[in-house]
Amino acid sequence: MAHRVTLIPGDGIGPEIVDAARRVVDASGAEMEWVTVNAGENAIKEHGTPLPDHVLESIKETGTALKGPVTTPVGSGFRSVNVALRQALDLYVNLRPALSMPGVKSRYEDIDLVVVRENTEDLYAGVEHMVGEDAAESIKIITRRASERVARYAFEYARRERRRKVTAVHKANILKCSDGLFLESVRHIAGGYSDIEFEDRIVDNMCMQLVQKPELYDVMVMPNLYGDILSDLCAGLVGGLGVAPGANIGDEMAVFEPVHGSAPKYAGKDKSNPTATILSAALMLSHLGESGAAARVTAAVRAVIGEGKNVTYDLGGEAGTSGYANAVIEAMADGD
Ligand code: NAD
Repeated sequence: MAHRVTLIPGDGIGPEIVDAARRVVDASGAEMEWVTVNAGENAIKEHGTPLPDHVLESIKETGTALKGPVTTPVGSGFRSVNVALRQALDLYVNLRPALSMPGVKSRYEDIDLVVVRENTEDLYAGVEHMVGEDAAESIKIITRRASERVARYAFEYARRERRRKVTAVHKANILKCSDGLFLESVRHIAGGYSDIEFEDRIVDNMCMQLVQKPELYDVMVMPNLYGDILSDLCAGLVGGLGVAPGANIGDEMAVFEPVHGSAPKYAGKDKSNPTATILSAALMLSHLGESGAAARVTAAVRAVIGEGKNVTYDLGGEAGTSGYANAVIEAMADGD
């Protein structure tokens, strides 16, 4: 039976890269039925809100979504659709693998890291207010429940994917209550996984260590804001945002999307790199039990990038978004 999946094209470059990923998935051998809904700026024009209820209802019904990036105005304006969606659907894990790829220029080789970011609370809880005109407060919320469940996911992931180590990332030396509780929660869960090594690092030191000795690290679990920052850092280690996939995962549902944003300046130019979205779609195929199709997609992406002839500008090539996707589809056909 076909997999019913909600498709959210998003803003900026979103529609082009999501269309590229959809075409690649359709050619992967997995049988798909796409339900397309709009969120973000497009949805405001049509429905008066960036996140209409029917978008959430569609994901609740299908259980799975492939999503393009959505623009969030800086400072004033509406709340982030991405944050609202993750919270509304209780997608409590943000999984962001960073894997080196032959053909992608980077100062580093053989990077194989996984960021497991808590996705529902911390400074993203949205509890902010002005105190008079000249001061502002943002409340950082950390709970034992959310910390333990993201930690459990990290250890289960490590066990399933045969990874050797989980590192908890925090700032518990300064934020003794909030990050102290996060660290205590991860330590508690680590006690149940004696087969997996566990350690912790303070976030500033972790940034330096990742730049100097990334080979020492494996799976890293952390609160929301550090996860946001470190996942871009890890994307930088493997050659940039164009190749960094991600998944938002809960107990009932999952939404797959690239780490990068909507890059408005490239919107409609058939220029940006759809690899991160295509690799997010490969994570989705694995999640749907289509591991053969997922492997075919990943192998075709690696073949096209490794060859270097049909890649986008950010990887040193001249191919457009759709031309690159065509090359990936052809590589899949050749691989059969
Ligand atoms: P961005 O990720 O859109 O862009 C950062 C840089 O990377 C830009 O130079 C851009 O051109 C480049 N880039 C990004 N994706 C690329 C791709 N696929 N191929 C080639 N180059 C690519 O980050 P930003 O400029 O900080 O944010 C733009 C908008 O996206 C903002 O409104 C932000 O809130 C939103 N955003 C959304 C998400 C999401 O939907 N999950 C994530 C991050 C940012």
